[in-house]
Amino acid sequence: MNKLIIGNFKMNTTPKEFKEYSIALATKCKGTKNDVVVCPPFTHLSVAKEILSGSNVEYGAQNICEEEKGAFTGEVSAKMIKDLGASYVIVGHSERRAKFKETDRLINKKIKTALANGLKVILCVGENLQTRESKQAAIFVRKQLDDDLKGMYENELEGVVIAYEPVWAIGTGKFATKKDITKMVEVIRKEIENQFSAKAAQSINVLYGGSVNISNYKNIISNEAINGALIGGASLNVDNFSVIARENY
Ligand code: PEP
Repeated sequence: MNKLIIGNFKMNTTPKEFKEYSIALATKCKGTKNDVVVCPPFTHLSVAKEILSGSNVEYGAQNICEEEKGAFTGEVSAKMIKDLGASYVIVGHSERRAKFKETDRLINKKIKTALANGLKVILCVGENLQTRESKQAAIFVRKQLDDDLKGMYENELEGVVIAYEPVWAIGTGKFATKKDITKMVEVIRKEIENQFSAKAAQSINVLYGGSVNISNYKNIISNEAINGALIGGASLNVDNFSVIARENY
C-alpha cells in the first residue's frame, strides 16, 4: 500500500546541513512508491527548491502566518512559502499549540490561508496524557477537528491531511498501540463524515505521528487504517528516514 511519509525537522539543522541531507535523500528515494515530504525550517526552503525540485521528494514548511501580508514582523506568509516551491505546510502542531499558545480559531484561519494559496495542509490533532487518562481523548480530538475545520467546504478538504499525534507520544519514545491508532482514526473519519460526508471521510488521508522510528516503523505504518506517518526526531537521520520512506507497506 502506498503511504505518505512526512519528516518534521522542528528547529534542527543548518541550511548547509540540510543541503547535504537533501542531496542524499533525493538519491535514496529514487523510485520509491511512497509519497515523501520533508518539512525543514523556513530558512532551508530555498535549499529545498534548489536540491529537491524535480526529485520525488516534496517539501513543506512547519508553520505560516494566518495573514496574507503586511505589518507582521517576523512572520512568514503562505505565498512566500508557495513561491519557494513548497507543497505542504504543517498547521496546529502540538508544540505550536502548547508553546506558542495557538488556538483552534487561529489554526482554522491558518488552514484557510494556506489552502487559498495553493498549499496542502498537514493538520495535527491529538490529546495530551491527562485527557487520555481521563478517557476524554475521542471527545477532545473531535472538538479539535470541529473547530479547526469550521466553515470549510468539502472540496477544500482535498488539500488537507490529518495527522493524529497524541501529545504524550511526541518525542517521548512512547507510541500508541495499533488498537489505539485504529480506534482514533475511526473517530477522526466519523467526525469528518459528520462534518462533511462519507465520501470525504473515506478519501481523506490520516497519518499517525509520535515516536515513529527505525525500530517500530514497520508495525506502525503497515496498519491499513492509516495512510502514512509524520516523523519528527527520526527524520533527522537521512539513512533511517530513507529506509522508512522506501519501505513497501
Ligand atoms: C512530530 O514532531 O510531529 C513528531 C511526531 O515527533 P517525534 O517523531 O519525534 O515524536
